[in-house]
Amino acid sequence: MSKENTEKCRKCQAVILLQKLVKNNHICPNCGCYLQFPDMNRLKSLADNGSFDEWKATIEYMNPFEDDKYRSQLRETQKNTI
Ligand SMILES: [Zn+2]
Repeated sequence: MSKENTEKCRKCQAVILLQKLVKNNHICPNCGCYLQFPDMNRLKSLADNGSFDEWKATIEYMNPFEDDKYRSQLRETQKNTI
């Protein structure tokens, strides 16, 4: 497992796949803590560089979220959480 594709929960220290974290609306599946990426561009660059494996790209493609809508919801959630 590449360290680049994971995020460590600041609360319970669980190591979570970024894709899993995104699908879970940035909520740690282990402790329910809201996680903010230290650098959102990191995830974006991962996707943009096509560095996802084929199966991950498929999951990305099947993501039910409209990208812009998802981002605005994410910002809203961050505003309410911080
Ligand atoms: Zn956690």
